[in-house]
Amino acid sequence: MNFNELSCNLKKCKICENKFGFKPHPIVWGDKEAKIVQISQAPSATVYKTQRPFSDQSGKKLKYEWYQIDDNSFYNINNFYITSLAHCYPGKTNSGNDKNPPAICYKTWLFKELNCINNEIYIIIGSKVAKVFFPLEKFDDLIFKDNFINGKLTFVLPHPSPLNIRWFKNHPEFMEKRIVEIRNKMKDLLNI
Ligand code: SF4
Repeated sequence: MNFNELSCNLKKCKICENKFGFKPHPIVWGDKEAKIVQISQAPSATVYKTQRPFSDQSGKKLKYEWYQIDDNSFYNINNFYITSLAHCYPGKTNSGNDKNPPAICYKTWLFKELNCINNEIYIIIGSKVAKVFFPLEKFDDLIFKDNFINGKLTFVLPHPSPLNIRWFKNHPEFMEKRIVEIRNKMKDLLNI
C-alpha cells in the first residue's frame, strides 16, 4: 500500500466505533516528505471538535512556548507529519480522564505510516508513546538524551498538558536547557 492509499484508508477508519460509542474522526496531518514526524498519544476532545491537531491548550504550549513557531510553520505539511498512537479521540473514563489510546490503532496504522515517510527527525510526545518505541528505557532518561528510531534522530518530550505541572516543577532543566537544544535543532532543519 502506498502513502496515498494508506492515508485515504486511515481517514475512513471506523474500527473503534463500537468501542467508543460514537463516530471516530481519525486525525492525521502532513505529507510523506515532511522533515519531522511528530507522534503523540491521541487527539483531545477539543481536537475531535476542530479536526485540527494541537488546536487545544496542550497545542498552544507545544507550538508557541516550546517550539516557538507559528501556525504556518507548524501546519506546513512539508515540515511536520503529525500523527499519534491512536488517531481518534478515545472518549473519557468514569473519572473524567481521556481513555488510553487503543493499541489496535498503532498496530494497524502507525507503523505502516512510518514506513512511508521520508523524515529526518522524530519527535515523540508523552510516556505512553515512549513506552511503545523504547519499552526498556526510563522516560525521564529518554527526554534528556538523543535517541534513535530507524537510525533517525529522535527527541522525546513530556506531555505539554497543563495537568503535567508537577513534572515540570521537578525538572526545571527541561525548560532551561533541553527544550532549547531541541528547538534549535528543529529550527535548523526547517530553516526557520
Ligand atoms: S482510533 Fe485508530 S483504529 Fe480506532 S477508529 Fe480511529 S483510526 Fe481506526
